[in-house]
Amino acid sequence: MNSIIEFERNVNLEIITGTGEILQDFSSTGKERPWVVHKKENLRLVEIYKIAKAKNINLISDSRLFDLEHCGDTLTFLKDAEGKKKLKTANFCRVRTCPMCQWRRSLKMFSQVRKITDKILQDDKGIKFIFGTFTVKNTDAENLENCIDNLNKKFRYLVSNSLTFAPAKKLKRNLLGYLKAVEVTYSIKDKTYHPHLHVIFAVKSTFFGSSKYYMSKKEWIELWQKALNVDYKPQIDIRVIKSGTAKAVAEVAKYPVKTAPILKLADDEAVEVLKTLTLDLHKKRFVSLGGIFKTVKQELKLQDIETDKDLVNVDAEQKERFNAITAVLFKYNFRFGAYIC
Ligand SMILES: [Zn+2]
Repeated sequence: MNSIIEFERNVNLEIITGTGEILQDFSSTGKERPWVVHKKENLRLVEIYKIAKAKNINLISDSRLFDLEHCGDTLTFLKDAEGKKKLKTANFCRVRTCPMCQWRRSLKMFSQVRKITDKILQDDKGIKFIFGTFTVKNTDAENLENCIDNLNKKFRYLVSNSLTFAPAKKLKRNLLGYLKAVEVTYSIKDKTYHPHLHVIFAVKSTFFGSSKYYMSKKEWIELWQKALNVDYKPQIDIRVIKSGTAKAVAEVAKYPVKTAPILKLADDEAVEVLKTLTLDLHKKRFVSLGGIFKTVKQELKLQDIETDKDLVNVDAEQKERFNAITAVLFKYNFRFGAYIC
């Protein structure tokens, strides 16, 4: 009942416009939120899509391009007596390649993983977390889609119960769940794509208890090589998330889809790379959860990170009540490169 009253009170607040105030928005840890950075990236992406359209490469419909161009250009914040702001409404486009929306999704992912990990640790303090990056050889544009499918398939093999290989048995014995994200980066130097996996494993404390269970980096490499069925030693990075807190776990769980590096490329190359990524990554899932991560997410009734439409409420700290006294509307001003009230 309280929240309804609160909501209605906020809705009835007068919206302030036209004061000339320049937007400054700080997170709870005092960091300025990078609204302008992401709006500028967003506009560079619009430019690349328009160049593609001029070349008859249609990667986005006109109406979606319109949404992208206006993504986050109008923001309404609630303001409390101390001047603290809380985003109330914004017109996010939800185009998958949009840097503004990717930023919002990545904040959302941080908050979700933090909530999930908090709950996991509440239920069992002894659980440990390991962060791993699993790679394969770089690939060209033509083989990228196959390569991603293969990577996902091989990961399922890695965590499946069917492996009888010694390191696989050690993992199987202690594995409680995982969070997996597929990331694809582009190498400007040799014009190739680099798909790889970022994984957070939740394991029983016994994993570190004795050499009978503990897996050295060498064993992880052997296991990944075995799963891939290749004759080279694949590159992996594996580390224990030492502090083991929910925040530390959430910090490594970044939302993997990032358009930003493409935006720095020269126009023609940017169009090509955007084309490859748009076509190959269409409708693919980037984030998946297994075991304890999945069940706790369901328990907490959290939205699917990739399809969740709400990119306004993304903060982990929703607990604290926000006592708004006014609402302020900011619009992005192209000429000044700033949000102005
Ligand atoms: Zn957007």
